Order: sequence, then structure tokens, then C-alpha cells
Amino acid sequence: MRTPVIAGNWKMNTTVSEAIQLISEMLPQIDEITNVEKVICPPFISLTPIRELIKRHSINLGVQNLYFEEKGAYTGEVSPLMLADLCEFVIIGHSERRQYFNETGEIVNKKIRAALEAGLKPILCIGEGLEEKEVGRTEEVVTEQLWSSLAGIEHPDGLLIAYEPVWAIGTGRAATGKQADETISFIRRNVAKLYGEEIAQDLRILYGGSVTAENAIEFMSQPETDGALVGGASLKTDQFLSIVKQTSEIKQ
Ligand code: PEP
Repeated sequence: MRTPVIAGNWKMNTTVSEAIQLISEMLPQIDEITNVEKVICPPFISLTPIRELIKRHSINLGVQNLYFEEKGAYTGEVSPLMLADLCEFVIIGHSERRQYFNETGEIVNKKIRAALEAGLKPILCIGEGLEEKEVGRTEEVVTEQLWSSLAGIEHPDGLLIAYEPVWAIGTGRAATGKQADETISFIRRNVAKLYGEEIAQDLRILYGGSVTAENAIEFMSQPETDGALVGGASLKTDQFLSIVKQTSEIKQ
């Protein structure tokens, strides 16, 4: 049995005080919801205050990025070593980073390696763009992204994958549950080719792309979909809690 995960990606939203307010709204209800791993990924600047607030609650902390070097003259960057003390998860290879910050497969691979070495759990994001989907290249694209991201990594302990079709992120145009689950199943078969059936069956693969309280049931009721990476809706307390709650009920 794979424990489902709902991870909130707050992206570049919330000042420190807004972040404190948002998590404070969520906490009173979060512990009542069991059998789902809950994760929030706020901006770096809010990590420390949020870490204090969630200490005695059943929610974990992640970040949205890291740099692959341990330390040194890399102005403005944050290293895995610094983060390993503060959080458990790290989103790597998000399509916004690939698009706006030119993150290539090689960079994503270095970041995944660095995260694993530091004991962080990477949430590797892969997914096709609209044009690629329209010409039927989804499987080719996710295969290429998967293999380049994991090249040379022998033990992916702690790894999670998020299948995030780029055309569905922040657009309100989600995939269908069935479409997403078929691609997730395809990704799992590829993981099995790389690491064997046992690791593939244990690995949690999430869907991401315009998940809301209204459509969560469609995704969470799919057999291969082990949770969601939620952007916009994770900034709304009711929405996020409802997604977590529905997941808990469906994935009993
Ligand atoms: C994301 O940021 O990973 C994401 C899926 O965003 P949204 O839910 O807003 O589409």
C-alpha cells in the first residue's frame, strides 16, 4: 500500500506574515485527517517560522527548489545541506523552473542527486507541453525527462514523481483522471525498467495540474494516482483541506 500524498506548492506567493496566517488557518483541522501525507512547500523565507508552527502537527515541510552544490560562491542560492535541517521534501524540475530558469535535464539530474545525498525527498516533476500532447508525444517526452533526471542514480530512496502536464498547470484546464492515470501507469512501468518492479510499485506518483476541491475526486479515485501536487488551490485553506480530506476518504 502506498500512502497517498497531497503536497501544496505555494509558488512565489505569501509574505512571511501571510504564510503564517495561512498555515495557522489550516492547522486546527489538519490532524483530524489521517492516512494521507500532507506537505506544504512555502517560499524559502517562511520555512523557519512555519517549521516552528507545525512542530506538533501531522504536516510536513518542503521547498520548491534547491541548488546542487553543498556550499560556496553561488550568490543567492540555497543548498541541500542548509535545507536538510529544515524540511523533508523538495520539488525539483517544476515546469516553471524549466521554462523561466532554463533548467535542463542535466541540471534536474544534479539537483535530484544532491537532494537524495542530503537525505531530502525529491518530488520530481515531469510532463509534456500542449504541442507535444497534441502531436501524441506525451510518452516520449515523459520517458526522456524521467531517464535524464534519474541518469546514474542507483538508489532512488525517498523519490516521488509528479506527473504535471504543462498545459494543465495554473490554467484551470486539468487533465481527465483517466488520462492522468494512464500516463502515471506508463511512468511506473518505466521506473520498473530502471529500478525493478518492487521499487516501481512502492514509488508514489502524483498528478499535478489545476487540481481543486471540485475535481480532486476524479484524480484520487484512480488506482495508479497516489496523490496530488497542488498549486493555486493550496493557497486557499478550504480548498486544500477539502482535497486532503477527500483523498483520505477515497484512498482508505
Ligand atoms: C503546480 O504548481 O505544480 C501546479 C500543479 O499548479 P496548479 O495546481 O495551480 O495548476
